[in-house]
Amino acid sequence: MSPTAELPPAVDVLVVGGGLAGLEVARHLDRAGADVLVVEAGPGEDRRHVNAAVKPARAEEMWTDVRTDEHYRRPWTSASGPHFGDGAGLRSRLGGRSLYWHGVLLPVEEWALREPWWPTAVIDDLTRSWRGGPALYDRVRAELLGPVAPVPAVDVGGFALVPPPRAVRFDPVEPERWSAYSPLEHWADDAARAVLACGTGVAGIEVRDGRARGAVLADGTRVGAERVVLAAGAVESTRLAVQALATTGAPPVLTGLVDHLVQGFNATVPADGLPEGRFFRYAPVAGESRSNLFVEGVPNSTGGVELEVWVTGEQVPSAAGEVRCAPDGPWPWPTEVRAGLSAEDTGVVRAQQDVLGAFWDALCAVQGRPGSALEFGADFLSPVRTLRQVRARLRHDGPGLTAPVTWASPLGTEDHEGGTLALGAVLDDRHELTAVPGLHAAGPATFPRQGAANPSLTTLALARRLAGVLAG
Ligand SMILES: Cc1cc2nc3c(=O)[nH]c(=O)nc-3n(C[C@H](O)[C@H](O)[C@H](O)COP(=O)(O)OP(=O)(O)OC[C@H]3O[C@@H](n4cnc5c(N)ncnc54)[C@H](O)[C@@H]3O)c2cc1C
Repeated sequence: MSPTAELPPAVDVLVVGGGLAGLEVARHLDRAGADVLVVEAGPGEDRRHVNAAVKPARAEEMWTDVRTDEHYRRPWTSASGPHFGDGAGLRSRLGGRSLYWHGVLLPVEEWALREPWWPTAVIDDLTRSWRGGPALYDRVRAELLGPVAPVPAVDVGGFALVPPPRAVRFDPVEPERWSAYSPLEHWADDAARAVLACGTGVAGIEVRDGRARGAVLADGTRVGAERVVLAAGAVESTRLAVQALATTGAPPVLTGLVDHLVQGFNATVPADGLPEGRFFRYAPVAGESRSNLFVEGVPNSTGGVELEVWVTGEQVPSAAGEVRCAPDGPWPWPTEVRAGLSAEDTGVVRAQQDVLGAFWDALCAVQGRPGSALEFGADFLSPVRTLRQVRARLRHDGPGLTAPVTWASPLGTEDHEGGTLALGAVLDDRHELTAVPGLHAAGPATFPRQGAANPSLTTLALARRLAGVLAG
């Protein structure tokens, strides 16, 4: 780890952001023998995943009340609160959100990973074969999951619930403590050469003669680079791209910002018909809801189960979501996020509520109890309750919930934000901004469509692809 005063004046590849995407690109470039520097805005001393470093209740608090996490930072304002407001943001430290994530690895589904949205070459590399060998999705799964023994599905009224594949390791002594994969593990090896510089962020990308030439750090240090990779989280990477694109006369805004559409309910129910013990399961439901259904259960002291059920569904990039900068004064330009729903998204929200209602009815039928209609607020954009509020109530009330309590997550708070630097649109299929040669991007910002899948399997697969492009 280098203080910025000791940075080399120039490198082959400069990666902006030492989170999941940036470190994974750097790890593969390092393996290929490239000259790489990662610049991370946050500190780099503590490299432990939060669920390994602190007790479960504290890890939960750092999520339900982000202000209690000293690393939480939201370097933008929201014009559409509560969306992309409190609760949305970065965990500004070396490792980024790879030290917070839950390790769920799901591929973007065929119905979303297709032309005309995704470039054909990228689809082929992810799903068929990359460079004459296994497909990128298969390579990442093989490395992070190893051989997975199939677990039989538990059928709840037609919903076949299976454990989602997860890149996690449980502590053998205290199994409540666990960590998910972080590419930071690569730097535990003495052979790692890629330099990590922490504690000063990148203020802007230097563009000269129409090409990215390096970066200017917040403390004024300049570092030259043949190639620069934006991996600072979707909104920050977009701010840096907007500033760079402004040198070509482009307006200071990029559209297409999305998060997953997530809503659900919590209830305390009997254990009948549910998987045994503590469980975390999912079932793809796709169709009009374009969603995955997740069900988590924790047995309580009275023989019942504290149930959390939610759907994670696709928001399709549109003009309803944007990142806009005020092109005044020195970098970093002030950045404002606007979020909204397209007509397609509204259809997904309605279909999701039908799926949740169908699951609740199915569970009540399996348990021989009368069902009840789930009440959702009329407007997803003005949620009556958020999951964070419901969780806080459960913690404080103790005995649980007798009737199901519904909730919706404000956009941005699912930490799956992306879509603004799409491959095949803002980027070519070499992950390079078509308008600014030498400037590349990584992470969910680059997904043309997200599908229902949690983003990180695709983030890791595309990071490997980008490293291959850069290493030649
Ligand atoms: C609690 C939680 C659970 C999650 N669970 C899952 C899951 O199970 N499955 C899944 O697929 N996804 C999950 N995610 C989402 C996943 O973690 C993110 O999609 C992923 O980390 C995004 O990677 P990234 O590299 O784009 O951003 P980050 O990991 O956030 O990294 C960005 C880094 O850039 C740095 N940075 C920002 N601005 C600058 C700047 N100007 N200069 C230099 N550095 C900068 C930040 O400090 C940060 O370290 C979860 C997220 C959270 C918070």
